[in-house]
Amino acid sequence: MDKIIVQKYGGSSVANILRIQDAAQRVVAYKNKGYNVVVVVSALGDTTDELLDMAYKIAKEPPERELDMLMSTGEQVSSALLAMAINALGKESISFTGAQVGIMTDRSHTKARIINIDAKRIKEELNKGKVVIVAGFQGINPEQDITTLGRGGSDTTAVALAKVLKSSVCEIYTDVDGIYTADPRIVSDAKKIDKICYEEMLEMASLGAQVMQARSIELASKFHVPIHVRSSFSNKQGTIVTKEVRAMEDVLVSGVTINKNEAKITVCDVPDKPGYAARIFETLADADINVDMIIQNISRTGANATDVSFTVMKSDLQKTLKVAKKLCKEIEAGGTTYDDDIAKVSVVGIGMRSHSGVAGKMFKTLAEAGINIEMISTSEIKISCVVDKSSGEKAVKAIHKAFKLGKLKKGH
Ligand code: ADP
Ligand code: ASP
Ligand code: MG
Repeated sequence: MDKIIVQKYGGSSVANILRIQDAAQRVVAYKNKGYNVVVVVSALGDTTDELLDMAYKIAKEPPERELDMLMSTGEQVSSALLAMAINALGKESISFTGAQVGIMTDRSHTKARIINIDAKRIKEELNKGKVVIVAGFQGINPEQDITTLGRGGSDTTAVALAKVLKSSVCEIYTDVDGIYTADPRIVSDAKKIDKICYEEMLEMASLGAQVMQARSIELASKFHVPIHVRSSFSNKQGTIVTKEVRAMEDVLVSGVTINKNEAKITVCDVPDKPGYAARIFETLADADINVDMIIQNISRTGANATDVSFTVMKSDLQKTLKVAKKLCKEIEAGGTTYDDDIAKVSVVGIGMRSHSGVAGKMFKTLAEAGINIEMISTSEIKISCVVDKSSGEKAVKAIHKAFKLGKLKKGH
């Protein structure tokens, strides 16, 4: 069989008829070069947001199974339209839902994980000379119910297919030229990175660089799938995400990210005794809620009680509040408060392993910009600060400048 290439087109790359026809032309060009092309598509433009808007107008907490039924329709539309556009250019093409090509997931609606892909049908169609289009972001669970893979999940569909089909590269077509030192929509001076390693990209994606879904990078790293993030608006070389990148240790900070999708919850007056933190976080984990940052304040003198704050995805806020309120009664804590007007700003860089001073510089930069830090968390290669949402973008710009990441910087 000819060489297989997996290409993924994001929402903005199939936003309307013209964009779909444009993507079809690119696909056909690869087909003409002798590739067997497998295409993963996202829903048209902002379709997923529009579908969710409708759902939340109808119910405050729509059943997650039904959300998956709803959201998965977006990708079904775009995959069929792209297949039609390719057929119209004279190449045979066939579209499939995730279920049809055997993308099996776990039962975790709205954030399911792929367990297995039986690519038999895809290979059969490729052998017939067809271009195969797969609806991204979706799969099917053991009950045969449709699941979705979390926002941005088409990236994960693409990487998983690239792995299973042994594609030499997974191309991610989007509306930017590649991965930048910061979101170019926020920092006009942001610089395109030519090559980045999985580890750094995974941190950037997890911390809010929405250009790729974090889980897709996790998967690519595990199975060594090289990724090429590039623009569907040009033929320019984009960013290669791969294993070790030479001279990386020389780069102190590679990127700055912002995540406005988290909310902070505080459980007040938690009895300051062993076992209570475990109880809170075990209960949240049992409810399938992912907790990100955690802060436990020192207990107030004489009070024998402490406040515990943590962040969760905004989409899990209502569920978390419900669980936390129930828990408060059980452990006789004071109550819960929340703040969903926060932004988490982070710096990422493998160079932090061997250099100190990044945290100090970041905090000083925020102080000089008059921005208050509400929470801090660090790991070996990142530092994150929670700030007020209204200061978030100002913080990103200031930090990007302080670390000289703009176009004038040498390296990368
Ligand atoms: P798609 O629809 O192709 O999946 P997304 O909107 O999910 O595209 O991701 C692309 C967007 O990610 C860009 O338009 C850009 O604004 C944003 N982005 C955030 N951080 C970065 C970054 N560090 N580098 C490039 N793009 C970024
Ligand atoms: N359409 C889905 C989303 O908007 C999946 C994707 O685009 O990757 O999140
Ligand atoms: Mg995306």
